[in-house]
Amino acid sequence: MPPPRFFCDAMLGGLSRWLRAAGYDAAFEYGIDDGSLVRSAAEQGRIVLSSDGGVFERNVIKGGAVRALRVPRASPPVEQLAFVLRTLSLVRCAPRCMACGGELRETSKLEVEGRAPPRSYAAYDRFWTCAVCNKLYWHGTHWSRITKALEAMS
Ligand SMILES: [Zn+2]
Repeated sequence: MPPPRFFCDAMLGGLSRWLRAAGYDAAFEYGIDDGSLVRSAAEQGRIVLSSDGGVFERNVIKGGAVRALRVPRASPPVEQLAFVLRTLSLVRCAPRCMACGGELRETSKLEVEGRAPPRSYAAYDRFWTCAVCNKLYWHGTHWSRITKALEAMS
């Protein structure tokens, strides 16, 4: 079975980035309204993630034509992620780009010279770039913090 793909509502941008860090394809559109959210999720075969009760009153959701999961609103994104993974019995996978959800490919250190900040370039040996938006990643503080938070919840 292919891994589930998600569409986060307009309030869950943080959760979409965390889902990507945990290896899942999670769409998010700033300011998207509930109607477009549910329609896009249906077209793309994604599970709707929302904290907004109104979404769950829609017939396509109530009838089960579109899968949806209600996420606790006030929790920090990492706890919302833990909730989603636990509820759907999912495990963490290789991280994807937190900005766009693209696949990360390891890139040789030589190729990123001049692109990585000099201190990070000097301090780290492994770098990754997003196959879609080309964003550069390395195992710096940000990445370590994310990994620690993800490990703490499993
Ligand atoms: Zn990207």
